[in-house]
Amino acid sequence: MIPAALPIQKTAHSWQAAWRNAVTDPADLLARLGLGHRLAELSEAAMAQFPLRVPESFVARMVPGDMNDPLLRQVLPVDAETDKVPGYSFDAVGDGSAMAAQGLLHKYAGRVLLVTTGSCAIHCRYCFRRHFPYAEASASPNDWDAAISHIAADASISEVILSGGDPLSLSTAKLAALTDQLAGIDHVRRLRIHSRLPVVLPERVDDELIAWLSAVSMPVTWVVHANHANEFDDAVAAALSRIRLPHVTLLNQAVLLRGVNDSVDALADLSERAYAQGVLPYYLHLLDRVHGAAHFDVIESEAKTLISLLRARLPGYLVPRLARETEGNDSKDLLA
Ligand SMILES: *Cc1c(COP(=O)(O)O)cnc(C)c1O
Ligand code: SF4
Repeated sequence: MIPAALPIQKTAHSWQAAWRNAVTDPADLLARLGLGHRLAELSEAAMAQFPLRVPESFVARMVPGDMNDPLLRQVLPVDAETDKVPGYSFDAVGDGSAMAAQGLLHKYAGRVLLVTTGSCAIHCRYCFRRHFPYAEASASPNDWDAAISHIAADASISEVILSGGDPLSLSTAKLAALTDQLAGIDHVRRLRIHSRLPVVLPERVDDELIAWLSAVSMPVTWVVHANHANEFDDAVAAALSRIRLPHVTLLNQAVLLRGVNDSVDALADLSERAYAQGVLPYYLHLLDRVHGAAHFDVIESEAKTLISLLRARLPGYLVPRLARETEGNDSKDLLA
């Protein structure tokens, strides 16, 4: 019998525990996939630039024995990352110069992007923030003041985008403190959340998170990030169905990645699987030209061809907008 007065504690199943248990050892990752004999193909130099990190539940969705598994490829540190490729840089999208206040990027009319944290539950090798100086650049959880003041002082800002890293790396209490401050600013009418955690760490979507989300008084657009249909499993579906509250719109952004989703079949499956969970495709991003990611690049003409093939196959609302981030423009560049 369980005594009624047992103190409430974080169980081994809490999202923080799932976060901590992420696989960070390359030998462990490959052993779990029956690929231990391929360890020499991983790159120590690449891991020194950007450590290996992948949650256990994401590893469990990979196909054992397949070094080319589309989920594995997204997190596998390889030698090609250390190649110096012309046109690839450390600040691929010009964020360094777009800071309006600590952690706040104000590049486009009406909306600001708040870099809430540098940390993330997974390390995607193509991440355009892999070289970003987070420690200096993110708005520290205890110091939103400069960012909030900037937002409060500019009545043209109607939407605040929580980004990172992954904003759901923050505790729910910190998220609530932040959204309470935003709710006090009249001209902020919409909240957007750019978070891949429902996909890569579905444990994060717990009762406390849903209680917070339910209490947010603005319409919320939640943009998840999945690149391949295999990223969806039952746990992800359950997490997404809890997020899909009446005031929440769910969208997906993906990155077009060589060897992961650069075929019309893969893109069509991704849209279909996302839609089955109530998620509509939003952007398909061409790779940001960040140093270390060149081996994932799909050239623009090929990307446009993929989109037209997709359009011939799927209803219009399941075809993502092909976009590229270009420094100095007043919106993302739409290519198709
Ligand atoms: C992508 C992005 C946005 C949002 O752009 P939408 O086209 O509204 O999705 C806002 N700010 C920054 C800095 C961005 O990179
Ligand atoms: S989930 Fe997003 S922020 Fe996190 S590593 Fe991947 S691309 Fe970067």
